[in-house]
Amino acid sequence: MAGDPLALAVLGRGLVDPTMPWLRADDEAVLRGRAAFETLRVYTGRPFRLAAHLERLTGSASVLELSPPDTAGLSGLVAATLDHLGDVDAVMRLVWTPGPDGGPPSGFVLVTPLPAGLDAMRARGIALASLQLATGAAVRQASPWLLAGVKSTSYAVNMAAQAEARRRGADDAVFLSLDGTALECPTSNVWFVAGDVLHTPALDLGILAGVTRETLLAAASAAGIPVEEGAYPRERLAAAQEVFTSSSVREVMPVVRLDEDVVGDGRPGPMSARMQAALRAAAGG
Ligand code: PLP
Repeated sequence: MAGDPLALAVLGRGLVDPTMPWLRADDEAVLRGRAAFETLRVYTGRPFRLAAHLERLTGSASVLELSPPDTAGLSGLVAATLDHLGDVDAVMRLVWTPGPDGGPPSGFVLVTPLPAGLDAMRARGIALASLQLATGAAVRQASPWLLAGVKSTSYAVNMAAQAEARRRGADDAVFLSLDGTALECPTSNVWFVAGDVLHTPALDLGILAGVTRETLLAAASAAGIPVEEGAYPRERLAAAQEVFTSSSVREVMPVVRLDEDVVGDGRPGPMSARMQAALRAAAGG
């Protein structure tokens, strides 16, 4: 995280000093990584698709068997932080924790600066390292306790995957299931272009239903671009004309290398640029 947070608002307290601790040390979120969260992008003071993020937060809390998030209270905190900050471009996290064993739950909204260098990464394109998960897609689907597709604060595995990708000389990771099916990246969804068709792994593989993914699916449909959702081996990505990732923070990020394979002509392609423009248009800019 680059520098101090820009703002923090806590349920029951409102805006507080973002550099001070506000969570109980015995909160299950701290002791067990058992809490739900959302990360969304703020464009010139406007949160992008807040309702969709609150809905997904409620879904994650339900799978984690937390009490339902106070979405009205959290929306109030979002408004308070953005009133305070004005027309910022930033990253906003909504966090809902169970509190200590037996409650009460806590919720907060944290706003941080955008990571540096995203536009430079978009211009050059990124490299992905494929990392296998020790489960098959069918097991992920049939095992809700593995929390596939849930945004829980237990992201240590995802962060470890990104660290391993960097050790392998890549910028990010892409997870493969045991049988080599491409799933998603630690903090983004993945896409590829083959022929005229845009492809992305299907949600029933047990991946996160990205809000950006949903936005791009709608944009592609509106633009008459054919899209296929399915189960694709790593080799389909390696042989694609274009690969890109999508997420709230990094938006559309072209991929120019997958492990040792150069993707397409090794430069960011036109479809990723088109999808990035469509995302910005949906965000009102
Ligand atoms: N997949 C995973 C595992 C994620 O953590 C994220 C976002 O953090 C995404 C996909 C992309 O989701 P969104 O577009 O809602 O940011």
